[in-house]
Amino acid sequence: MTRIIDGNEVGNRIRNELEGRVDTLEQQGVTPGLATVLMSDDGASETYVSMKQQACDEIGIESYHHEIDPDTSSDVLMDRIDALNENPGVHGILVQMPVPDHVDEQAVLERIDPMKDVDGFHPENVGRLVAGNPRFKPCTPHGVQKLLAATDVETEGKDVIVVGRSDIVGKPMMNLLIQKAPMGNATVTVCHSRTTDLAEKTKNADVVIAAAGVPELVDGTMLSEDTVVVDVGVSRVDADNERGYEIVGDVEFESAKQKASAITPVPGGVGPLTIAMLLYNTVKAAGLQTGVDVTLP
Ligand code: NAD
Repeated sequence: MTRIIDGNEVGNRIRNELEGRVDTLEQQGVTPGLATVLMSDDGASETYVSMKQQACDEIGIESYHHEIDPDTSSDVLMDRIDALNENPGVHGILVQMPVPDHVDEQAVLERIDPMKDVDGFHPENVGRLVAGNPRFKPCTPHGVQKLLAATDVETEGKDVIVVGRSDIVGKPMMNLLIQKAPMGNATVTVCHSRTTDLAEKTKNADVVIAAAGVPELVDGTMLSEDTVVVDVGVSRVDADNERGYEIVGDVEFESAKQKASAITPVPGGVGPLTIAMLLYNTVKAAGLQTGVDVTLP
């Protein structure tokens, strides 16, 4: 029987644990705070930000939302980040990507105080992760680790294929999996757009983590029996339904399910974990900045 990994269930369990830590902070007079900054008119970005705000509200994290006109200069955004860096009630800062073309994305990431960088994208936090001493683990790959742990998939000694080498998913996923740490110790191959013969790589994997953003790139013919499959991809494809589109992952679910021992669906797999781990990092940030012990698993 193929196990369908339920991201909502795992995400809810983590949120419940975090609620207890929020109570601990409150008892010490600290309300954890997350600032979200949106400099875009993109509907999907607006949806992502409002989902994050709602998730904060549900566990008692205060969310502060800032919208910046995408036609204004990048100085407006930088000034806002500076103000949030200085605000002691804000423990985490998230600038929703992408920012407009005239704004230097890397400069934005570097402007955020590394102690408030709950996405884990500031070079200081990337460096700490690579060095094996992470502060804030990037939310999506951290969530994938939590999903694997909740499914009792041991990564130690396993051959893992990560499809995608982005700074937000593929690269940090690799860095987490090669750590000498629980849910690490894997042998990791990172595939990307220039990889030749992806199927030959995925067929030899114990675990395949697909994060390419290419709808249904990986299908059952590319997998061996008993592979664990984690689908990070989220793409909108045209569909003959009321909305005119449907959401699909990077994995062709039906054929992959025939081979996999466990598989995440899209939606309802990795997505809920990305949000849960953002809350996790915000609670951790609040603990680090106030000295309240919120030791997290
Ligand atoms: P990205 O576009 O920045 O990176 C995609 C990577 O895939 C690149 O490194 C590229 O080299 C590789 N790639 C592209 N085509 C390929 C191919 N044919 N074969 C092998 N590799 C290929 O994307 P990203 O930001 O890393 O996101 C990847 C996907 O994950 C997207 O669909 C995105 O929407 C989704 N995502 C989901 C969540 C979530 O919470 N579920 C979070 C982040 C990203």
